[in-house]
Amino acid sequence: MQRQKIIIEGIVQGVGFRPFIYQLAERFSLAGSVCNDTRGVTIEVEGDPDDLAQFVTAIQSEKPPLAVIQSLEAETVAVQGSSGFSIVQSRVGEIRRAQIAPDTFVCEDCLQELFDSGDRRYCYPFINCTNCGPRYTIVTGIPYDRPLTTMADFPLCPECQTEYDDPTSRRFHAQPNACPTCGPELQLVDGKGQCIVVADPLSEAVRRLKDGQILAIKGLGGYHLAVDAGNHEAVLELRRRKQRDEKPFALMAKDLDVVKRFAIVGDDEARLLQGVERPIVLLQKCDDHNMAENIAPANRYFGVMLPYTPLHYLLLQDEFEALVMTSANLSDEPIAFEDDEACQRLGTIADAFLIHNRRIHTRTDDSIARVMADRPLLLRRSRGFVPRAIALPGETRSVLAVGAELKNTVCLTRGDRAFLSQHVGDLKNLEVYDSFKQTINHLRSILEVQPELVAHDLHPDYYSTRYALEESGLPSVAVQHHHAHLASCLAEHGVEEPAIGVIFDGIGYGADGNIWGGEFLIGDLSSYERVGHFRYQPMPGGDLATKEPWRMALSYLQSTYGEVPDGVNAFAGITDNELRLVGQAIMKGINTPLTSSCGRLFDAVAALLGLRQKVSFEGQAAMQLEMIADPVQSQSYPYQLLHVDGQIVFDPLPLIDAITKDNFSGRPVAEIAGRFHFTLAVMIAEICIQVRQQRGLSLVALSGGVFQNCLLTELTLAQLEKSGFKVLTHSLVPPNDGGLALGQAVVASLLNP
Ligand code: ZN
Ligand code: ZN
Ligand code: FE
Repeated sequence: MQRQKIIIEGIVQGVGFRPFIYQLAERFSLAGSVCNDTRGVTIEVEGDPDDLAQFVTAIQSEKPPLAVIQSLEAETVAVQGSSGFSIVQSRVGEIRRAQIAPDTFVCEDCLQELFDSGDRRYCYPFINCTNCGPRYTIVTGIPYDRPLTTMADFPLCPECQTEYDDPTSRRFHAQPNACPTCGPELQLVDGKGQCIVVADPLSEAVRRLKDGQILAIKGLGGYHLAVDAGNHEAVLELRRRKQRDEKPFALMAKDLDVVKRFAIVGDDEARLLQGVERPIVLLQKCDDHNMAENIAPANRYFGVMLPYTPLHYLLLQDEFEALVMTSANLSDEPIAFEDDEACQRLGTIADAFLIHNRRIHTRTDDSIARVMADRPLLLRRSRGFVPRAIALPGETRSVLAVGAELKNTVCLTRGDRAFLSQHVGDLKNLEVYDSFKQTINHLRSILEVQPELVAHDLHPDYYSTRYALEESGLPSVAVQHHHAHLASCLAEHGVEEPAIGVIFDGIGYGADGNIWGGEFLIGDLSSYERVGHFRYQPMPGGDLATKEPWRMALSYLQSTYGEVPDGVNAFAGITDNELRLVGQAIMKGINTPLTSSCGRLFDAVAALLGLRQKVSFEGQAAMQLEMIADPVQSQSYPYQLLHVDGQIVFDPLPLIDAITKDNFSGRPVAEIAGRFHFTLAVMIAEICIQVRQQRGLSLVALSGGVFQNCLLTELTLAQLEKSGFKVLTHSLVPPNDGGLALGQAVVASLLNP
């Protein structure tokens, strides 16, 4: 006989872990107990040593689908002669280091029951079990127990209670457990919040969608706006009602086979689509797809997800090839998640609302992923991934990092883990800013952390910076934007050694007060040095230049030629007067900060090629340039590398000249765009080789929003790897500002107290 005490940390609460252990102990005829505690789960088992060894192996290999084991420590203790195995109730206050699980798609077992006409939950849209269902979005506090979720509104019926209490049931301690007798229910309402009385709200909703109506549908982390994706008029009408919004709409289709009818799905994409997180995955459109024109204009990709709630499965049963399921908001507003608010804000967009009475406590947008260079890459890390922890190189002080201003997320560290929040959005919007503060408070309370420090961007006017300095009440640390991007990439890989950071993005406040964004750094998790950058270029109108790419085209043309050459087609729709005024502003330096931004160079080239003079969302022009580019170009345009004050400066004026001439001579835009991408990749490798010669570093980290560009990233990887560099790219954490808070948190947590 032997007795072992086993302590397991990770996501092991609220995921069916204790009943799993119970059944495993029965299988190996072991006696003892299992309970939740401050760190995770503690097990005491005694029995035959061989059985004990097999038991421990089976914990690792057979763990429940949602469980994440971060560590498992087993020690031998004195035999107590126990008989039987029991699940010991957890006591309040004992859950401190435990982790809340993310929201997860409905599992196979529940799906079976959902479509089994003999099951008591047949067609019940809120079916779930310990292996699936809502978690993070319904948690109001800790410990994770039904009274501290929004399921507190629904007392369990006797049948559900029996399942809840039965350790052999798949619903043992499943906090969101519910059935048609005791659980949440659907309702169809009109734009004024008035109930539309029908026998079956679901089939009426389907009928209306079939009819071309726009429906707001309450989901897991917020509302979606849905229309039949095959109905051109309905999609067009949705665009019209969403006002000027040109962002691509996401699609939802029943299963992989259906997706393959309109998009190209590789093995990696299929894995992402079918993962428990169920993100939106960017997939190349099929040439002959029959989806409506306006779903993803000027884009080679559709954003597609598979159903993730039972309600989605019911909606998609037989009627639709796919539904548009776009987050329910007007541009820049946060996604609607409360019923009254949804009716108010979406009343002019949706014809009807399919709602239910399970409250969403934490608004959480859909995550967005793609496959890049044969690896998954998260472009937005939100529902399904949050609040899963990211491992840090070691124990650190607890830090709150408040992120950037656009694509904001926040990050909290606890012990050797970082917790990056769900996507919050653009803080300039007041409602988003409120949501930002709620997110910080909620994360603090469910993680039970009191941060010692707050980390923020160097930009003095970001709302997040102002919050850190004026409202957080904590000692503050400023972290330079591009250093934070670099640290975020290093931290994701657990790399502590210094690397060459190639950090390209739209805009970040520089240490010299200029706007940076085409940066070559040398740095690690605690410090950095700037070793190279793009030539400083006037950015007429400041922030306005990010919305109006023609301004950067004008700036580059003036620098190249001193004036605008005749016949340039970069300025369609821009009046001569505007051109003259902005031209003068550039010469006199009025409201014209200097920038080394790579994103702004993309803007200028997109405008020069006549793709776009103005944009309706951040990065739109750059995205269009990538989409139109011929990916197999392998000829570089000329450029210059200057050496100024010990730094390497990339001067793209020869490139602008060559592109302008190519454009005049009628070379296809696709070829020019392809060569532009190739040139940047060649330039990156040349600069990294120079830095390696001087400093002996051969590790490169690519970060910043520009590296969402698949073509540029893959070309750059090829150039760098050909030259013998080891290259780190993002995967779990977005390269854009959505990953910035992680870098800020890591840098600040390593500062000497
Ligand atoms: Zn389930
Ligand atoms: Zn029930
Ligand atoms: Fe950035």
